[in-house]
Amino acid sequence: NRQVRLAARPTGTPGPEVWDHTSEPVPEPGEGRLVVRISHISLDPAMRGWMNAGRSYIPPVEIGAVMRALGLGEVVASQHPDFAVGDLVTGTFGVQEYAESDGEGLQKVQPSDAVPPERYLALLGMTGMTAYFGLFDVGALREGDTVVVSGAAGAVGSVVGQLAKIAGARVVGIAGGAEKCAWIVDELGFDAAIDYRSQDVGRELRTAAPDGVDVYFDNVGGEILDAVLTRLSLGARVVICGAISQYNAESAPAGPANYLSLLVNRARMQGFVVFDYADRYGDAAKELAGWLAEGRIHSREDVVEGTVDDFPDVLLRLFRGENTGKLVLRLQQA
Ligand code: NDP
Repeated sequence: NRQVRLAARPTGTPGPEVWDHTSEPVPEPGEGRLVVRISHISLDPAMRGWMNAGRSYIPPVEIGAVMRALGLGEVVASQHPDFAVGDLVTGTFGVQEYAESDGEGLQKVQPSDAVPPERYLALLGMTGMTAYFGLFDVGALREGDTVVVSGAAGAVGSVVGQLAKIAGARVVGIAGGAEKCAWIVDELGFDAAIDYRSQDVGRELRTAAPDGVDVYFDNVGGEILDAVLTRLSLGARVVICGAISQYNAESAPAGPANYLSLLVNRARMQGFVVFDYADRYGDAAKELAGWLAEGRIHSREDVVEGTVDDFPDVLLRLFRGENTGKLVLRLQQA
């Protein structure tokens, strides 16, 4: 059982020195437990936060522990009444080939010809839940709103924009590069895109969102957040989903310089953690699966083939913007 463990807390971008590659015998399930052979590992920007010491919404990964990761796999041994050999399940299995579990938090899934397994880590998994609750609950989206989303060609952002279109909003996406911008407009139906690498976000928003921004769904923080703050409409909602531009920063950001826009526009800015909506995942997943089946929403997974030892490199793709859609590591079976 190959594993990737956290060897040291990183400063800045996590290099090879923060990881330990280890191997252990494949676990046997104890009474009431099961063993999963992992086929897919989810790559999440949040992993960078889990590597830091200190208080957060979830305890940090301990030094020496297998790195925390969501994944998908097949039950290969079971002494658990609810899980049989051959069941496919998602759960927090870690960066390893096999995981032992008591079944807590595991979800059975049923991929098909129409739904590849990795989609359960994308639209039909945490990514979809984050977009759904962030936009509809925290963002309190209303028909006719102008929605701006950053990280718009990423896993969460690409779903947010499509959900906002389904709900009757005007949608502007901010993403890095012409290709990503073309994809969200031409394939996903966004109304406009801004390439933050080659364009001035604040200036472009004046034409892309002439009446102001009613909902800003922020995945990136930093300068882009600051630029959008200057364009808020009266009563706007700013959804703080993430701030990937800050996760590897070695010093604290100066902070949004334009936050007084919240006062002027009687707007609110609210952070959220998707786990708080766990008791409603079932309903949201049903609705998302319905839109998927009707072809009203697309899920794109960016699947990298490799072994668990490739995890440290694949993770960094998120911070370089090398993924489009949901980044997943598919483990080659030995
Ligand atoms: P993505 O698929 O969006 O991947 C990350 C993307 O971020 C990259 O593709 C890149 O796209 C962009 N990016 C990277 N560095 C920068 C930068 N310096 N400035 C601007 N953009 C950058 O990841 P996810 O969809 O999984 O996650 C998106 C956000 O949602 C993250 O901030 C994550 O932490 C957050 N999140 C929050 C949850 C919650 O419960 N609150 C749950 C899940 C995710 P580009 O090429 O466009 O730069």
